[in-house]
Amino acid sequence: MIVGIDAGGTLIKVAYTENGSLHFIKYPIAEIERVAAWINELENPTICVTGGKSGVLRSLININSKEMVEFDATHLGVQYLLDRMGRSEDVYVVTNVGTGTSIHCIQNNMQERLGGTGVGGGTLVGLSHLLAGVTDYEEIVALASKGSRDRIDLKVKHIYEGKEPPISGELTASNFGNDLFCVAGELSKEELLATVVGLVGETVSTVSVLAARQCASSTIIYIGSSFIHNPLLKEVVESYTVLRGATPLFLENGEFSGAVGAMISL
Ligand code: ADP
Repeated sequence: MIVGIDAGGTLIKVAYTENGSLHFIKYPIAEIERVAAWINELENPTICVTGGKSGVLRSLININSKEMVEFDATHLGVQYLLDRMGRSEDVYVVTNVGTGTSIHCIQNNMQERLGGTGVGGGTLVGLSHLLAGVTDYEEIVALASKGSRDRIDLKVKHIYEGKEPPISGELTASNFGNDLFCVAGELSKEELLATVVGLVGETVSTVSVLAARQCASSTIIYIGSSFIHNPLLKEVVESYTVLRGATPLFLENGEFSGAVGAMISL
């Protein structure tokens, strides 16, 4: 069996091929020992590990494994998954919205990290817990998709009252910037969580579009587990990316890019 593993800050992503077909599984990082026990029981596996927790995982397994820098693994995996989608892009930006967000330019078959932001999936989970007391990821995204940001975010058009704004009035002037003092006590979990998703989505897409100016392409490929079961985040990221003149693409199984890249490097 050929196995690629991306052990990240929050989730462990595993990609493996068995009898010619590709399989994906993910585990919370707290279950790293369970993943190690699964590997230790495999018969003659070939393994490559990547990600920030790859050292911890490798110390728990008792078979030889290869290690790979996660940015290179992600690049390889994105190329493979793009090909599976029938896409043939060769110059593009990759924005990986994991626990944090990392942005890369791919051209001439090389990847260069353009930058990133600490606002990412970890922010989504952390702020949701602090503001609404919700800790379960699936519950966060389900509630968020039912909420409205209208009472919490301040839009450009709210500032330019009775006057034509110089930029789209629909743009957010300030996330969580509306006059919250009179409504703070009556805001629902759905409203608060939708606004957290808005903050994360608008930040990652804005930073991505700005970073894309250093890359000879305005196609931005979004990957990372923060998009899992999260249609609201996809919607915010898609509309903000388009509004700012770039083309978004959500890679199918994109959260497994690092694991797939590690696997096909073998
Ligand atoms: P990393 O490689 O840093 O672990 P991921 O790409 O796996 O990053 O993304 C982690 C983010 O995915 C979390 O911060 C959270 O927003 C989201 N996420 C998706 N599914 C889950 C889940 N089952 N449990 C926790 N977080 C999840």
